[in-house]
Amino acid sequence: MKHIDGSQGEGGGQILRTALALSMITGEPFRIENIRAGRKKPGLMRQHLTCVQAAKSISSAEVRGDKIGSQELEFVPHTVRGGEYHFSVGTAGSTSLVFQAVLPALILASKPSTLTLEGGTHNPLAPPFSFIEKSFAPILQRMGPRLEMTIERFGFFPAGGGKVSIHIEPKKTLKPIDLLERGKLCLQLGESFLSHIDINIAERELNTIRKKMSFAASELKTRQVKNSPGPGNLVAITLEYEHVTEVFIGFGEKGVPAETVATRACQYAKEYLRSDAPVGPYLADQLLLPFALAGSGSFKTVKPNLHCTTNMDIIKMFLDVDLKITKEKDFLYRVDVV
Ligand code: ATP
Repeated sequence: MKHIDGSQGEGGGQILRTALALSMITGEPFRIENIRAGRKKPGLMRQHLTCVQAAKSISSAEVRGDKIGSQELEFVPHTVRGGEYHFSVGTAGSTSLVFQAVLPALILASKPSTLTLEGGTHNPLAPPFSFIEKSFAPILQRMGPRLEMTIERFGFFPAGGGKVSIHIEPKKTLKPIDLLERGKLCLQLGESFLSHIDINIAERELNTIRKKMSFAASELKTRQVKNSPGPGNLVAITLEYEHVTEVFIGFGEKGVPAETVATRACQYAKEYLRSDAPVGPYLADQLLLPFALAGSGSFKTVKPNLHCTTNMDIIKMFLDVDLKITKEKDFLYRVDVV
């Protein structure tokens, strides 16, 4: 049984999700202590508990310590079974993080799966559905598995109530790939998503993107979300290149002007454009696990942050791989799976 200190590195929820994913794949049980000790409210929150319950359900695991607030957990997986699963986070907890915990095991399972997930679909501090769909999933598909993703209802913080479904066609092994260049720019798009919010907010956000990113009118779109239970707003800037697509988000918040929300997304996009790296900071930490499972492959990214290096340390506890970071120049780093 592996012993994991949940306070190491960033001390966040990623340590738990990566451990769950790799424990199911390798069959190696683990015990984790000090869960999320680096966060203001440590221990398992609703969203982390749903990840544990989802992992338990797909691998018939034996689990101890799976309750809200728990800072210790023991997880003993059995065989992972593809199939039809429905997990609800309750509240606005992120469905994407539940997806992140179970996906690696399901793309390697012996049968296809269909996941229905309910909760938040566009949460700050988690991969928004649009990011997974446009940025992460196409790269994973190049490695072999097929994913079909549908959003049935948007779920914004704090009301939640979103619903997504994901069909997964697994592969026995993942094909290693390299992601070293962006290739040529194929499409740039600025979108303002609104639910129960005055349309004037979208006009102000898109106007800000037009000025800051010099996008043409045809590259700016208002997306009125019809069936989300609560109010919500976000700005998404998509940069689609030949080899990679990145999505940068600004989340609308009460009391924060629309111009500031759009400016945040523009700043993330500009930071990315300042570097030549194909892979942005969030995509980098999400690609580590599939790249490590493939056993080799390289990508270029911006400076790996603490989230990324902590994730690397957990991956190396379970898999016999080294993840080497080399600085090539300012704002450009290379990650090699060795
Ligand atoms: P905590 O550490 O409080 O438990 P958590 O479990 O919600 O938090 P983190 O450990 O911080 O989450 O991990 C957040 C995940 O969300 C990471 O995989 C990160 O790449 C991803 N993420 C966060 N913001 C974005 C964003 N704007 N776009 C894409 N991915 C994002």
